[in-house]
Amino acid sequence: MTVRVRYAPSPTGDPHLGNIRTALFDWLLARHYGGQFILRIEDTDRARYVESGVQAQMEALRWLGLDWDEGPDKGGPHAPYVQSERLPLYKEHADRLLAEGKAYLCYCSPERLDEVRKRQQAQKLPPKYDRLCRELTAEQRRAAQAQGTAPVVRFQTPLLGETVAQDALRGAVTFQNETLDDFVLLKSDGFPTYHLASIVDDHLMEITHVLRGEEWLSSLPRHVLLYRAFGWKPPVFAHLSTILGPDRAKLSKRHGAHAALEYRRQGYLPDAVVNFLGLLGWSLDDHTEIIDRETLIGHFDLDRVLPNPAVFNADKLDWMNGMYIRRLPPEELATQVRPFLEAAIGRAVDPAALSRIVPLVQERIKLLSEIVGMADFFFTEGPLDYEAATLLGKKFAGEPRQAAEGLEKVLSAVQTLEPWQREPLEAAIRPLAEQMGVKAGDLFGVVRVAVTGRTATPPLFETMEVLGREKAVERLRAALDRLHSVTS
Ligand code: GLU
Repeated sequence: MTVRVRYAPSPTGDPHLGNIRTALFDWLLARHYGGQFILRIEDTDRARYVESGVQAQMEALRWLGLDWDEGPDKGGPHAPYVQSERLPLYKEHADRLLAEGKAYLCYCSPERLDEVRKRQQAQKLPPKYDRLCRELTAEQRRAAQAQGTAPVVRFQTPLLGETVAQDALRGAVTFQNETLDDFVLLKSDGFPTYHLASIVDDHLMEITHVLRGEEWLSSLPRHVLLYRAFGWKPPVFAHLSTILGPDRAKLSKRHGAHAALEYRRQGYLPDAVVNFLGLLGWSLDDHTEIIDRETLIGHFDLDRVLPNPAVFNADKLDWMNGMYIRRLPPEELATQVRPFLEAAIGRAVDPAALSRIVPLVQERIKLLSEIVGMADFFFTEGPLDYEAATLLGKKFAGEPRQAAEGLEKVLSAVQTLEPWQREPLEAAIRPLAEQMGVKAGDLFGVVRVAVTGRTATPPLFETMEVLGREKAVERLRAALDRLHSVTS
């Protein structure tokens, strides 16, 4: 058997992490078994349709390297892969159920359905269609038709008994039929509901495994009944657990969760996000956290997917991203951080200069975007923007003269220093602190702000080496001028 799985997003907005986790598990299962991963766009809910939603879905999948084998842009043996382009197929199948007496036309107006719902609410009953049109006589049907109301097609759900469905993660799940509705298959505008469209497509597209969010578990009995009505073999269903925040509440922005593509904007690496999402509900063993893509593919299977809620931990994602950043070859990291830096400073960055900076920050950043705070000063032309108070720090807050004295000493020690490299720089500067009777770290702090404008930077002497003599000396002078203007 070839494994065929589909990711079937509804383009109602930007994909969030839960959607993408489903797509990832689909993709992993397909790749693990050498099967096919299909992208299908479920756009039959026209009221919630968002034009950019399809592009955003594809963009997120592409960014994460989750390539699909069949889909709207790729075509395939079961094209089209967009549900709104498959309407005749759904109609054909709804007609078949009508002809076989397994479905019926319902002429109830929205106003009537509303009344029914209100009545049920008043009686504290679950809202459900009252099946008025299920038993219409031929004459009543003709009368309804004559009124010109466009009917919907409803499925004739068994009134009694139970429907047992299999979920790959939960085993047998039993549903009481009396709790089910005569749900709509085809709406009056000719569009199918999710239930009909997804069953017809999953069957026609020869889907073997349906992975979807737990919120669809309640639809499972309807789907099982539809498969039976058509006489088709259902696929394996796996309802993936909800993702919760650390406080066990439904995942939201408050927990640091964003739309999938926001992670790209913030400087997360696709491999890190894939690794992180891979562990939301699946595990390799009870301890391994860093798992590369190949290993995920090699080991992924439904037997280690858990039905209980997965907990999203934003700090863990950041940590993981830092791990993946450290594993990148420095040239690759330089390529990755460059756009972030260029966007921040507003001009092109010399790749050669950047390749000297990257090794200094590789251990220190968790997000690609953090390059800006760590390295923009290398590229600043003209005076740096900082306060005199920052330059003085706590140590020299009341002693600007002493700080100035320190900077003078540093300046004269390094102006003509040869070679301009970190060891000689350190060897020249460190003893000055002792001469002055201050801690080395305190003197370094002033020098750091003087040459970078910042208090947190890559190591000082490496930074000075890469910055170059000209800029470093110019900035030390500018810092001294600033101190002189405070002390005079
Ligand atoms: N269109 C549904 C969604 O976006 C798909 C559910 C399913 O995979 O069957 O959630």
